[in-house]
Amino acid sequence: MKVGESEYLIVNDGTFKLDGGAMFGVVPKPVWQKYFPPDDQNRITLGTNTLVIKTKKRIALVDLGMGDKFDSKLLSIYDIKRQKNLIENLEGLGISRDDVTDVIFTHGHLDHTGWATINDKGEIKATFPNAKYILQDDTLDEIRNPNEKTKPNYNYLNFKGLDSQIIAINGDEEIIPGVELVKTGGHTKGHQIVISRDGNNSIVYFGDLIPTSAHIKPAYIMAYDLYPMETFSRKKELLERAFEEKWIIVFEHDPNSPSAILKDIEKYSLSPFSL
Ligand SMILES: [Zn+2]
Repeated sequence: MKVGESEYLIVNDGTFKLDGGAMFGVVPKPVWQKYFPPDDQNRITLGTNTLVIKTKKRIALVDLGMGDKFDSKLLSIYDIKRQKNLIENLEGLGISRDDVTDVIFTHGHLDHTGWATINDKGEIKATFPNAKYILQDDTLDEIRNPNEKTKPNYNYLNFKGLDSQIIAINGDEEIIPGVELVKTGGHTKGHQIVISRDGNNSIVYFGDLIPTSAHIKPAYIMAYDLYPMETFSRKKELLERAFEEKWIIVFEHDPNSPSAILKDIEKYSLSPFSL
């Protein structure tokens, strides 16, 4: 979608699977399985939607899918399926790895940072050599100092050799004119969302605060969240703004409805909207 002088696109890195119960926390299975039918291992299929923000001078990517650094065990656990990967899909839009100027991470989990680095015949390199990689200070701390609970959610290879390209910010910041990072916490301590404004339109990438359209209700919170009450209160507050200001909401992990507009703040119902 073109808005003013900027262009917004959604590209993906295929699908993967996670446990349906973990994805929906205390929401009962008879409710969530209507949206996401589970497989024989109770896993549901999730998307990997990256937001591309093209301005006159910059090409920014928000979150980077699963990447190419999985061994056969993890490949079968996550059941990654792709026709084309994120890099090939970007090339299809005429965007090369060298063209990318900014990478924004909502947080450091492995399903959001996969293509930060690339496996080049066994050598791990920055996928986007000319980009700054922007995340919250607290996210950098969570990546560098995981504990027994959080460690399985990170892949250290995704950040190998990236130190000189990483920019860690502290709190809310407009990092590109019209593109604001808003720290939310909730899912992780350093989790942030991306609010892009251009003229009358706001396109908002919620990361794991609202991973799919089926998580739109404030109480529908993933069991993965480290600070669920913070997720609840930030969702409530941000969705009021989304309703009043008619935000176009991007759902990172929704394989079927990657974007929508909130049409009713009482029922939390959505209108389809394609970017
Ligand atoms: Zn996450």
